[in-house]
Amino acid sequence: MNPIAATCLFTAAALAVAGLGAAFGPPTGSTAKETPVRTLTTADGRTISAAGHDVTPLSREAVAELAKSLTPEQYRITQNAGTERPFCGTLLDNKKDGMYVCVVCGLPLFKSEHKFTSGTGWPSFFTGFDPAHVAEKTDTSHGMVRTEINCARCDAHLGHVFPDGPPPTNLRYCLNSESLEFVEKGQPVPKESQPVMTTETAYFAGGCFWGVEHGFQMIPGVFTVESGYQQGTVDNPTYKQVCTGNTGHAESVKVVFDPATVSYETLLRFFMALHDPTQLNRQGPDFGTQYRSGVYTVGDDQLTTAKKVLAELQASSAFAGRTIVTEVEPAKAFYAAEDYHQDYIEKTGRACHVNIHGAFKAAGLEEPTGKPAGH
Ligand SMILES: [Zn+2]
Repeated sequence: MNPIAATCLFTAAALAVAGLGAAFGPPTGSTAKETPVRTLTTADGRTISAAGHDVTPLSREAVAELAKSLTPEQYRITQNAGTERPFCGTLLDNKKDGMYVCVVCGLPLFKSEHKFTSGTGWPSFFTGFDPAHVAEKTDTSHGMVRTEINCARCDAHLGHVFPDGPPPTNLRYCLNSESLEFVEKGQPVPKESQPVMTTETAYFAGGCFWGVEHGFQMIPGVFTVESGYQQGTVDNPTYKQVCTGNTGHAESVKVVFDPATVSYETLLRFFMALHDPTQLNRQGPDFGTQYRSGVYTVGDDQLTTAKKVLAELQASSAFAGRTIVTEVEPAKAFYAAEDYHQDYIEKTGRACHVNIHGAFKAAGLEEPTGKPAGH
């Protein structure tokens, strides 16, 4: 017996004695996802995640073909919902930078920066690579109610997720090493683990973020819209801190979009008509620097486009000669706002200061009917 196997058996036995071996199993009820799953459907019917990966479910035949190259242990765990012995997995103590991909289909599932030492004997993460990559289902086997996690593309069994992890999600994704393959940073990324679409990120501040977020959520080609705080001087500010006006943050939204479906310039024109960029440090009923108008750019192209479009709008009759006071600056750190601010209009049905009809018209976009698209 080699020394590694000996250690492994010893630890498993010690765990059983200490009663810790149940860490994988206690009834916990079902776990809600920490963030909503957002995907885009392409014209040819493929499902693309916000991270740009093709997560269209594979057929049974395609999975069976891929599964032929698995080892017996990988097959038992991924195809028959098996569990490896604690403290035996090869990736448990892996501290290298990189990503963890599905051993069957190669879809990226977890990132090294989200890995933590849980003490359970299985690799643990507090969040996934993208909410659309890890599927959840209720597992009632062994007389317990647990939330099973599977690869969203090939349905490989990965492990379970429990609501006892560290902040910020308080979730513990408990994995089998055998379900994963590690791709170290700097190493070639296999084709099946690469994104098929490049997404772009844009930031806009136009007063209270509730309505701005809601407006962008309605645009086809927008994957995710998140409300947060930006361009301030304090890390991880709370809403209360931002409201004092002392942190320098603006209420802004982070928009992740598919630039092949909707351009940055279109989003910018939408934004400029969505709010009133001629009001200094206020929008509608809200006064204060956190309600200032701002376009926070990512990269030189966005900066050039923003300056060009704002100059053009100023020269036009769009705002009846009033001066546009929108600040245009490279984006600084974005801090997501508290959960209760996310999807606020969607959740409450309240109205906000924004001009959605005018924004769609100004951007030359057709206003969708029904549910917002960016959900
Ligand atoms: Zn997979």
